[in-house]
Amino acid sequence: MNAELDMDDMMPASAMANTRNTQAAPATPTAGCLEIDALTVSFDGFRAVDGLSLRVDPCELRVIIGPNGAGKTTLLDMICGKTRPSSGRVLFEGRDLAQMPEHEIVRAGVGRKFQTPSVYEDLTVFENFEISLPNAHGVLRSVFFHRRADVIARIEAIADMVFLRDRLAGKAGRLSHGQKQWLEIGMLLLQEPRLLLLDEPVAGMSPRERELTAALLARIAQGKSVIVIEHDMDFVRQIASKVTVLHQGRVLSEGTVAEVQADPRVIDVYLGH
Ligand code: ADP
Ligand code: MG
Repeated sequence: MNAELDMDDMMPASAMANTRNTQAAPATPTAGCLEIDALTVSFDGFRAVDGLSLRVDPCELRVIIGPNGAGKTTLLDMICGKTRPSSGRVLFEGRDLAQMPEHEIVRAGVGRKFQTPSVYEDLTVFENFEISLPNAHGVLRSVFFHRRADVIARIEAIADMVFLRDRLAGKAGRLSHGQKQWLEIGMLLLQEPRLLLLDEPVAGMSPRERELTAALLARIAQGKSVIVIEHDMDFVRQIASKVTVLHQGRVLSEGTVAEVQADPRVIDVYLGH
């Protein structure tokens, strides 16, 4: 049996029904809620994250900033199970992620985007979306599952959201760096996480792409919790949500953009340079 993906088999847009609402409100009041408590990890005695506590509310968009080496990426690594904490807890909707293997954390509703976009350059944008659908693996399944009208409609809705609707038939390798970042965000959205972790998603983006991404993140956070690591303060101002500043593996400051920018400790170690 041939599982080849064929754009010509797609149904016309008019025949599509049952578009899933990707912005649905959380099912429970705690959906997407993350509580990190005294989280610590040591690498050869060096504490990359050091007794860090942090709470992200359902449907909150939280920005994490801080100098290089502050522990931002390591923090995301521990939330998604890539790195195991030495001590402390990562409670997601009340379950301790620190005890779960990576694939189970994904299944529990946590999506992670790494710093460098990893998309399949030789596949079309549509195919990239298609293979990231939950249950998309397995030959038989792909033949019968993929071409259903509602699946196509769902992919088109996500493509719209991440500004790639008119690029669906083209190879992902032809996209700009920023568009690849969007594609990867869209691929994660198809898995419908309730917590999305994004490590420097606007790196390498043009100013216009950054603006669009700020709007995209605000829209995504209407239906799920989002943690974004970012360096670019202009972008952070555009998102204008609560900011946590990390320094040497700890929370240095937390508040609105204006509050952390006015915090002398933040100016001293980060923004003053
Ligand atoms: P950030 O993302 O804030 O720039 P990272 O979380 O990548 O910082 O790194 C925090 C610190 O932990 C750095 O000093 C880094 O070198 C160190 N580190 C991160 N991962 C590892 C690892 N697997 N082994 C050893 N040191 C690491
Ligand atoms: Mg990093």
